[in-house]
Amino acid sequence: MRLKLPSLAFLGLILAAAPVLAQQEKAPAPPTMVIHCGQLLAIPGQEPKADQTVVVKGDRIASVLAGKVSAQDAGVPSATVVDLSDRFVLPGLIDCHVHITSAYDKGVRLRFVEESEADAAIKGAHYARRTLMAGFTTVRDLGSMGDAAFAVRDGIASGLIPGPRLLVAGRAITPTGGHADLTLGYRDNLFALPGAMEGVADGADECRKAVRAQIRRTADVIKVTATGGVLSNTAAGYEQQLFDDELAAIVTTAHLLGRRVAAHAHGTRGIKAALRAGVDSIEHGTFLDDEAVTLFLQSGAFLVPTMMAGETVARHAEIPGYYTAPTAAKARIIGPAIGAALSRAHKGGVKIAFGTDSGVGEHGENAHEFELLVQAGLSPAEAIVAATSTAAELCNLTPEIGTIEPGKSADLIATPKSPLADVSELRRVRFVMRAGAVQKNER
Ligand SMILES: [Zn+2]
Repeated sequence: MRLKLPSLAFLGLILAAAPVLAQQEKAPAPPTMVIHCGQLLAIPGQEPKADQTVVVKGDRIASVLAGKVSAQDAGVPSATVVDLSDRFVLPGLIDCHVHITSAYDKGVRLRFVEESEADAAIKGAHYARRTLMAGFTTVRDLGSMGDAAFAVRDGIASGLIPGPRLLVAGRAITPTGGHADLTLGYRDNLFALPGAMEGVADGADECRKAVRAQIRRTADVIKVTATGGVLSNTAAGYEQQLFDDELAAIVTTAHLLGRRVAAHAHGTRGIKAALRAGVDSIEHGTFLDDEAVTLFLQSGAFLVPTMMAGETVARHAEIPGYYTAPTAAKARIIGPAIGAALSRAHKGGVKIAFGTDSGVGEHGENAHEFELLVQAGLSPAEAIVAATSTAAELCNLTPEIGTIEPGKSADLIATPKSPLADVSELRRVRFVMRAGAVQKNER
């Protein structure tokens, strides 16, 4: 975008009114568009329809019409026509579990003490763009350091940088030495003992404070590490880490303040404790059993299986020196087990929401998760529901996203062929529109 240079006399006025200039830099409202769709899966779970027209006004879906309707006949004669008549069109995809400002690799432990918040924000902007271009128009960031993920979220929302709509958790809530205590395994005098702002809390009162501290810094969702995890440098295992009263304090505080709770959990006991405490989703769910399935059904919680994370850590565990010894040991056990958990949950009727844990794996490769979901027993149609209407339900954004219906945000994507026949087609997204703005349209 080019800005017209103002006269020198006017410059002083503009500098005095910096917030006004910031507003002017906002992306202009998108024009009215008429989109001709070869096939349209407006509501995942239902059958797609051939030859449909979607009318988009500003950032909203205005109407969905049968047939190839001209701009004139749609009542918007000056609209721009987008020809996707040889494409399969569906709602923008939703990934309920990413870490947008980070990418795990062998050097991550050194980078943690070298990189700044500004570095993390720049990387977040880069990964957000990649994620959007892969067809993901909404993602939840479930755990980041400091303020970088919030800055990326706000930069995208104000139109300054391209990216998906972001829901950000801030720091995950964890006990001292728990899975998300990022000071684990470093020399004692390198960091002060972390506290509420860092998400580290012991006892119910501190847990309440840690939740409030994240919401104070504008968290949209609360993440809790109910059990140990793979990538923390500790041999403390992958079972329950927070006491029942601590989990209850986290959930009641978050719900009191209108936030959903996403619980990272691998071990059976920890999964069930989190479900009993009333969390809204279990992330990973590696060793869930039949009793856990019953608890899911009773509470209405979702499972976000993150199959890609399991595949990634199992692969990296075999590269000598890639992980610290405790991490490699956990990765070998947990990585291969996530698929069986998903199959058990899916057969038991648990609501499955799509999530990749990107940041553990590559940003922009998120759609590989669809292939893994189908391998674990979901149909392509069910996998697409998990990444659209069910994910929207988990994000508490059903009125806004997840289907292509009048009044919702105009978030839609297109592939060359039907992903209902071959779900890997979702790795070949050619068209992306977010909030009425075309982000990508490749032939
Ligand atoms: Zn994660």
